Amino acid sequence: MSAGKVHVKKGDMVMIMAGKDKGKTGRITKTMPDKGAVLVEGLNIVKKHSRPNKQKTGGGILEKESPLDASNVMILCKSCNKTARVGHQVLEDGKKVRFCKKCKETLEG
Ligand SMILES: [Zn+2]
Repeated sequence: MSAGKVHVKKGDMVMIMAGKDKGKTGRITKTMPDKGAVLVEGLNIVKKHSRPNKQKTGGGILEKESPLDASNVMILCKSCNKTARVGHQVLEDGKKVRFCKKCKETLEG
């Protein structure tokens, strides 16, 4: 586990490197640095059975994204369309940006 540090940010495109969704790609919807985990849109879905209650209509099966260990996802480069080796660059204004070491394209935004 890599609690305390998450190398990806919300909005990053990533590839899943382990587990049942290995090889699939998706967008980070949430990072949980305290758990070293991330949520990826539409991936690592778990089905939860919910009981019917009076407030909500019916019960049934709820599909929900479950957190993935951040160490099991890799940033995807939009230009290479592959997992990227990430480089870091500091701009003149002091802003840190990440880029793909292969094609030099930025990984921000
Ligand atoms: Zn690239």
